[in-house]
Amino acid sequence: MSAIKQNLIQIKSTLPENVTLVAVSKTKPVSDLIQAYEAGQRIFGENKIQEMTEKWEQMPKDIQWHMIGHVQSNKVKFMAPFVSLIHGVDSLKLLQEINKQALKNNRTIDCLLQMYIAEEESKFGLDEKELNELLTSVEFKELKNIRILGLMGMATFTEDQNQIKKEFTHLKSIFDSLKNIDGYGKDALQFVSTISMGMSGDYQLAIECGSTMVRIGSSIFGGR
Ligand SMILES: *Cc1c(COP(=O)(O)O)cnc(C)c1O
Repeated sequence: MSAIKQNLIQIKSTLPENVTLVAVSKTKPVSDLIQAYEAGQRIFGENKIQEMTEKWEQMPKDIQWHMIGHVQSNKVKFMAPFVSLIHGVDSLKLLQEINKQALKNNRTIDCLLQMYIAEEESKFGLDEKELNELLTSVEFKELKNIRILGLMGMATFTEDQNQIKKEFTHLKSIFDSLKNIDGYGKDALQFVSTISMGMSGDYQLAIECGSTMVRIGSSIFGGR
């Protein structure tokens, strides 16, 4: 059996049933993805729209493609026909563009709102105030071709497990509070069920903190 298949089977055996595995295949050749596909994997995560689109064209059509990277508005159109879930949505403007392109393709596109939980300058995402403003805005309520499935976050890149745990727990508490705030509108948030947090180095901790979706790359496909 190939190493990729072995890694995948091993990781899957440790995941609780309610946790979805996104196999992060960025920078890896299609031949590697095919091995994961043959081992039963159907959800792949990429962080560049062009690379994801090229792989989508070459791979079997029952794959769900997740965009996990930062998204530029002017490139949404390239993935709008096929993308299954966009993890990194962090502005109303981007959400409006996704809605527009979804409409053009006569579909609804599922999104996660990316929260800024790390103590690093370089990470994208909303803070709680911005999340509130977005979800209570009139403009947000007008977007009929997107669905918010939940939140996504990335912890600080550190060895300090307590720090990471603090950040994941924070994201979980924001997630839990989503359903309690009046004004968000039950309609707009009726599909909220997903917390995307946890990567190769911290996914076990993320699951302990309430993650329902882990994004694992190097532990499956090897280093990049
Ligand atoms: C690359 C990437 C991952 C996967 O990272 P690994 O450490 O290889 O598991 C997860 N999430 C995002 C947003 C990424 O860019």
